Amino acid sequence: MHKRYGDHVVLDGLTFDVQQGDRVTLIGPSGSGKTTILRLVMTLEEADGGYIFIDGEPLTHVERGGKRVPLREKHRNEVRKRIGMVFQQFNLFPNMTVMENLIEAPVHVLGMSKAAATAKATDLLQKVGLADKADAHPLQLSGGQQQRVAIARALAMDPEILLLDEVTSALDPEIVGEVLGVLRDVAETTDITMLIVTHEMQFARDVSNRVLMFDQGSIVEEADPETMFSAPREQRTRDFLSAVL
Ligand code: ATP
Repeated sequence: MHKRYGDHVVLDGLTFDVQQGDRVTLIGPSGSGKTTILRLVMTLEEADGGYIFIDGEPLTHVERGGKRVPLREKHRNEVRKRIGMVFQQFNLFPNMTVMENLIEAPVHVLGMSKAAATAKATDLLQKVGLADKADAHPLQLSGGQQQRVAIARALAMDPEILLLDEVTSALDPEIVGEVLGVLRDVAETTDITMLIVTHEMQFARDVSNRVLMFDQGSIVEEADPETMFSAPREQRTRDFLSAVL
């Protein structure tokens, strides 16, 4: 993948693959391009070059006759349905209730009936410990509760891939645990492929099976969490970890 903002090159030929069911954590210093990668996969950003494939299916572009050809918006939307994302700032619809937030996309994007979407949302709210908040508005909830709603909203689409972008960074330290607890539960009870950007190294250690260390848009080191956090190979990784741990 290639991605630049103006003159600032963020990704310059990055390549990696993720297997179905993988829990991959991206770590690395601020500005190394981790969030950009998630946003490219979610098609919230346009790459300047390169191709993303989901289960062999091109996401936004294909190569034809040596040229990078954009795919139709309709195709992009179809593939994107398989991906869910949870953001640092929750991004809930503030003028809708919690329940309305959860059923919006299942009804309007997947074409589920309102009754089926509501039943599913009720289960998910139970799962994230917010069964009693269905009629609340997001701003009546704490940050941790809003983030749990955002996780439930992503799961309501039955994603094959879940992108988690620093989901605890906007939270007070004492409520980080409740959100990570919900995600640990998702990791243990589903086989959703996860791509995780986090500064919570313990969480990375607990849930991921692969950790990628980034610096300046490149992968510096890749390892299982045990190796990455206990015996990293690269000096760059050791410097980064000693600064954050
Ligand atoms: P952090 O851990 O701080 O979130 P990151 O590794 O996720 O960092 P990115 O958010 O992907 O890094 O940003 C990579 C680089 O691209 C940074 O230098 C950032 O300032 C720049 N950047 C990101 N988004 C934009 C944008 N919309 N316009 C201009 N520059 C941007």
